[in-house]
Amino acid sequence: MSYTMEVLETALAKNQNEPEFQQAVTEILTTLQSYVDSRPEYQKEGVLERLIEPERTIIFRVPWVDDAGKVQVNKGYRVQFNSAIGPYKGGIRFHPSVSISIIKFLGFEQIFKNSLTGQPIGGGKGGSDFDPKGKSDREVMAFCQSFITELYRHISADNDVPAGDIGVGGREIGYMFGQYKRIKNSSEGVFTGKGLSYGGSLARTEATGFGLVYLMDELLKQHGNTIEGKTIVVSGAGNVAIYATQKAQQLGAKVVAMSDSNGYIYDPEGIDLAAVKEIKEVKRGRIKEYLEYRPNAQYTEGKGIWNIKCDIALPCATQNELNKEDAEVLVKNGCFAVGEGANMPSTLEATEVFLENKIFFAPGKAANAGGVATSALEMSQNSMRTSWSFDEVDRRLKEIMINIYNNISSAAKEVGAEDNFVVGANIAGFKRVADAMMLQGIV
Ligand code: NDP
Repeated sequence: MSYTMEVLETALAKNQNEPEFQQAVTEILTTLQSYVDSRPEYQKEGVLERLIEPERTIIFRVPWVDDAGKVQVNKGYRVQFNSAIGPYKGGIRFHPSVSISIIKFLGFEQIFKNSLTGQPIGGGKGGSDFDPKGKSDREVMAFCQSFITELYRHISADNDVPAGDIGVGGREIGYMFGQYKRIKNSSEGVFTGKGLSYGGSLARTEATGFGLVYLMDELLKQHGNTIEGKTIVVSGAGNVAIYATQKAQQLGAKVVAMSDSNGYIYDPEGIDLAAVKEIKEVKRGRIKEYLEYRPNAQYTEGKGIWNIKCDIALPCATQNELNKEDAEVLVKNGCFAVGEGANMPSTLEATEVFLENKIFFAPGKAANAGGVATSALEMSQNSMRTSWSFDEVDRRLKEIMINIYNNISSAAKEVGAEDNFVVGANIAGFKRVADAMMLQGIV
């Protein structure tokens, strides 16, 4: 058995109750196999064995009191996965589905994604099974303060810089940053995604969605096409989905569908994004309320968004939201490009369908890297005690996304897998981290 497959087998055996982590490790090691096995120095230095084991895992109790005066207890997590190229960097997720498996899969992916950005940031991820949905602002604040009362001792601007993710937006970052500052008596830039009045970066809110569309547009341009005039389906209606829709519309595409965890809307005239923003960003409501703004649109309860005919699909909600059958329907309906705004939204089988059918498929670790790349720009601005204009940050973001596309495209070509951006992203992301690990000895 090859070195890579041996490491994979051990990883699967050692992490048996962690299906999402197993899925992420399988996807990455399988595509790295021929690249790694033809370079014996990686085996000699035990690079893969070290890469798949987090440097540090912190699991803690988060007690807080709800509005009824009842004590609630959640689990908190921070996985500091790899710091070979810089401080741990990765979001915090608040969602009832959060488990050690999900945080480890996200942290593992984050190592490669952060490497692809070209910025000096290592990989980490954190979160809690706390559900902010339906909670009052006071309850969310009480939870965030308790979460940080433990986590503060493990993070700092030079060693681990968390950000937002599902369920963690500007409100939650504000509460966590406030509590950190109070305990540590330090205004350092320990979080990214901060409010503009206290160290946040312009264009960070838009960055993941904008970056996704910049990368897809570049991919299409390199193949004699563009985003302009295309019909697009976007899943989700959160941060990534909203700003992917905004940039796609700006570039002349028509986005016809969006969703949340209850169902999806279809508006053949093109989504009214101002309405979606009001529902989601202001009222924190449900996507079906869209019908109050556009009575001619359709709302369907449950799954099924991928049955809508489109040229380009942008899954921007959550992991494993697009399965083999969905992929087959998309291909049958003429979809020719898929860009993952979310992390691992396509199952392994769905990815295979896209690759077999020569669909342009941009995996999340490359396609949604604009968020963390702009977080790194926020860190730079904090360190320099300055702030750049929206256009300056947006210009840098676009440049980074074009570079990422060029890197993953040439890495794929180098190993004879032209236009296989899964292989390209994994190799390009791995190479930088592995080389840094080898230069730093066995640590
Ligand atoms: P948000 O919480 O802002 O939005 C998530 C959206 O996805 C909501 O519309 C939510 O619906 C929907 N959703 C969540 N869980 C499910 C589910 N189980 N089934 C169906 N729909 C679901 O999160 P973000 O937009 O920030 O993140 C979306 C994805 O993008 C995640 O995978 C995240 O890891 C990834 N990502 C985010 C980055 C960022 O900068 N924010 C950076 C890189 C990746 P509902 O409100 O009903 O739960």
